[in-house]
Amino acid sequence: MNSISVKRPANLIKSVFSLFGKKKKAAKALLTIVPRDEHSISRSNLSENALKVLYRLNKAGYQALLVGGGVRDTLLGLNPKDFDVATDATPEQVNQLFRNSRLIGRRFKLVHVVFGRDVIEVATFRAPPTDEHSTKVAAKGDQGMILRDNVYGNKDEDAIRRDFTVNALYYNIADYSVHAYAGGWDDLQNRRLRLIGDPETRYREDPVRMLRAIRFAAKLGFSIEARTAEPIPVLAPLLQQIPPARLFEEVLKLFLHGQALDTLRLLREYQLFGHLFPLAEQCMRDDPQALTMAENTMRNTDERIRAGKSVTPYFFMASLLWPALVRTQREFEQRGLPPHPALQKAADRVLSQQIQATAIPKRFSIPMREIWELQPRLAKTQSRRCVELLTHPRFRAAYDFVLLREQSGENLSGIGKFWTDLQEQHPGLVGSRPARTGDDEQPASDDYNDAPRKRRRRAPRNRNRRPADL
Ligand code: ATP
Ligand code: MG
Repeated sequence: MNSISVKRPANLIKSVFSLFGKKKKAAKALLTIVPRDEHSISRSNLSENALKVLYRLNKAGYQALLVGGGVRDTLLGLNPKDFDVATDATPEQVNQLFRNSRLIGRRFKLVHVVFGRDVIEVATFRAPPTDEHSTKVAAKGDQGMILRDNVYGNKDEDAIRRDFTVNALYYNIADYSVHAYAGGWDDLQNRRLRLIGDPETRYREDPVRMLRAIRFAAKLGFSIEARTAEPIPVLAPLLQQIPPARLFEEVLKLFLHGQALDTLRLLREYQLFGHLFPLAEQCMRDDPQALTMAENTMRNTDERIRAGKSVTPYFFMASLLWPALVRTQREFEQRGLPPHPALQKAADRVLSQQIQATAIPKRFSIPMREIWELQPRLAKTQSRRCVELLTHPRFRAAYDFVLLREQSGENLSGIGKFWTDLQEQHPGLVGSRPARTGDDEQPASDDYNDAPRKRRRRAPRNRNRRPADL
């Protein structure tokens, strides 16, 4: 279990202020400053590169604070995925300070400071969009979604435009204190997720926050505070406004943090899953075996991550869509198509329906198809070409898929054991042939479980479709 080894700061509330004081929807931010000896962050837990960035900014006279998951997870004793820095320096000033940096984004600029493969993202404090900022710099769509969000602000303003209170925690390099806003310090200790501000408004501004709520609840084992939880099932359809490419990125984050099973269950409970995987949700409702298979997939993914093995999205995507594929293939067969073309047509249809919800880059959809197409071939255990099949670049994935299907209750007449034994007889052959076409990012080896590339948040490309990159 995660534990928080922080002391409760007594009477540390240094200031209370209100922003947009005259407005009805005044957002109040309560700042709690926790001094260095009352929290558990030590510089030895932090990324060296992040520290370099913080110190250099600070030396140049700017405010420099670590923010977001880097602070939250370190306080929880977890390994943060990445470290983000917030500052009052403008992107141009940051860019001038670091030779190894580049400006990212056109409308809202960020700076990436690059240390080999490690990237520290530096963002200038931003203010929440208000009516006063007019449509020139901030804009909302007709559903309340933020489309542009280009206003620099101060640290207090920056805090209240963040999503959850536990994500509005800042580690200040100037005196090593933690600055917590809007009750985030207490929420962290009570393991509670709470949106800053009015939940419905915040979800409308950016519906992806609903997915983030589930991801953090599952990953951190936090509860979702009632006011934050309630609107989710009602507002879940707003996910349809989000570009499929962004949803795909979110799907990767949802299922690859080590608590995929809890994530799946919560997504379904909050009626979000059906907006990410409509076909899979339908099958899971109709057929308990489809649900078992999805849950087993997530359980296996979590076990692999716990065992320090890498995991790949194409395997779990292939698995989530398998029951829909089988169903569609059967429909084509009933219309007279032979099994193989029926399978191919079914794969086309299922993938083309799925990409309307979440994009699937080719480097994932190609191996998904390969796994599916190998299933009937693995069923033919009498074939003289069995040994040759072991060399197929997707053999390992397809074999694991067979095991998963058996584990989920499909009767495959023991083919899993057949292929286990055959591999033992020919250990050098497995996956020895190079991967097929267009699949340049996959290794040509039996280790299909390559980790996905680390993705950094990018600035929005199309301001009319994607909300501000927050
Ligand atoms: P992790 O990196 O573990 O996924 P994180 O909290 O660091 O968690 P990021 O996506 O890296 O999440 O974002 C960094 C910070 O930016 C968040 O902690 C939050 O303060 C802010 N943020 C990110 N996305 C949003 C959003 N959609 N709405 C509001 N604030 C956001
Ligand atoms: Mg992060």
